[in-house]
Amino acid sequence: MMLRIKRVPTVVSNYQKEEAEEGASHAAGCGRNCLRSCCLPGAKLPLYAFNKTSKVVCEKDSVGSENDEPPVDFLDSLLLAEWEDRMQRGLFRYDVTACETKVIPGKYGFIAQLNEGRHLKKRPTEFRVDKVLQPFDENKFNFTKVGQEELLFQFEPSKDNVVKFIPKAPIDAENSPSVVAINVSPIEYGHVLLIPRILECLPQRIDRESFLLALYMAVEAGNPYFRLGYNSLGAFATINHLHFQAYYLATPFPIERAPSKKIITTNGGVKISDILNYPVRGLVFEGGNTLEDLSNVVSDSCICLQENNIPYNVLIADTGKRVFLFPQCYAEKQALGEVSSELLDTQVNPAVWEISGHMVLKRKEDYEEASEENAWRLLAEVSLSEARLQEVKELIFETICCNLDENKDVTKTPVQESAVTPPPHEDVDAIRGSHPSMVPV
Ligand SMILES: [Zn+2]
Repeated sequence: MMLRIKRVPTVVSNYQKEEAEEGASHAAGCGRNCLRSCCLPGAKLPLYAFNKTSKVVCEKDSVGSENDEPPVDFLDSLLLAEWEDRMQRGLFRYDVTACETKVIPGKYGFIAQLNEGRHLKKRPTEFRVDKVLQPFDENKFNFTKVGQEELLFQFEPSKDNVVKFIPKAPIDAENSPSVVAINVSPIEYGHVLLIPRILECLPQRIDRESFLLALYMAVEAGNPYFRLGYNSLGAFATINHLHFQAYYLATPFPIERAPSKKIITTNGGVKISDILNYPVRGLVFEGGNTLEDLSNVVSDSCICLQENNIPYNVLIADTGKRVFLFPQCYAEKQALGEVSSELLDTQVNPAVWEISGHMVLKRKEDYEEASEENAWRLLAEVSLSEARLQEVKELIFETICCNLDENKDVTKTPVQESAVTPPPHEDVDAIRGSHPSMVPV
């Protein structure tokens, strides 16, 4: 049996619309200024080269540069400034900054957004939800088909450990750059896509190198309100071309304030804990002697889930210091007819943002009646049962501990309650507008 659900696909690019409309061809290329061989030659795009060595090395010889300041502020002056530029140019399908947002009263601080524009003008499409790994299909929409105006910049590791910014860098097709692009159906301010090695046309699946790239982006942004997320196939990803999402929202997510209980610390210093007192069961990874330690443990866990055909979502929080992992089963239940019509009628797709506590609602009545109970009820359907999660954790630990055992590099520590003090909750009005780059400069 093949499991499918019908849902309205999210339009992430203006070139994803019904392929019927042919662009008027002018000059060279296919007329769409895309990223394929028809339009790529001669194309230029800003390049931000980040430093993989987290500590800046002070060279005695270098004159007058005691601290190696980045040539451009990554989040404010590059990412958000370029994003706002595309908003001015009218590339988005609606104005997300005009969507109503509120913090739902209660102790968890769920955030509700009314977003009526996101799913207009699209018919529901069938998605296969029972295969987390599916081969790349070049006939379907993928990011090589987006217009170059939807791209913001290339994001690459620096070759000489010096942060560099080149405003007009050639796009080197041979090296398949990683790029940051807008999502034309944003759910928040600064909503972008990180597409690792875009021209390699990788399917939606985590690998070590790509996950590390996403962590580096969180580090480079350096702001806890800028998070990255990942949805696997079967967990509400709609495009089978490897991508992460990210956006800026100046309030803590409920998941970030959930208490946790330590299970284990790897010898690489990565602490793995159970998430407690939250409707979706999952794991949180933090620490690590190096960013790569953290990245490898998380990506190996994701690879384990993929290979066992378990759909999952990932949130990268705290500037890359904490990563949440949620195996989920909502789409499967939906395909099997096990989700109540009351929940289905809301058409809310519980992907990484909803699971983290940012509820993107499509109907005004759901927004007006939004309550902690409703949010909890939806998210509880997303979660694996306690027993199933236990099995899944055993699979994960077997995978990562096997890897670790080879290096004799795992230390089991007694379970202990972590002392969690949730950060004070911000004023509703402060969610938006508190960020300096909201003011044109
Ligand atoms: Zn083209």
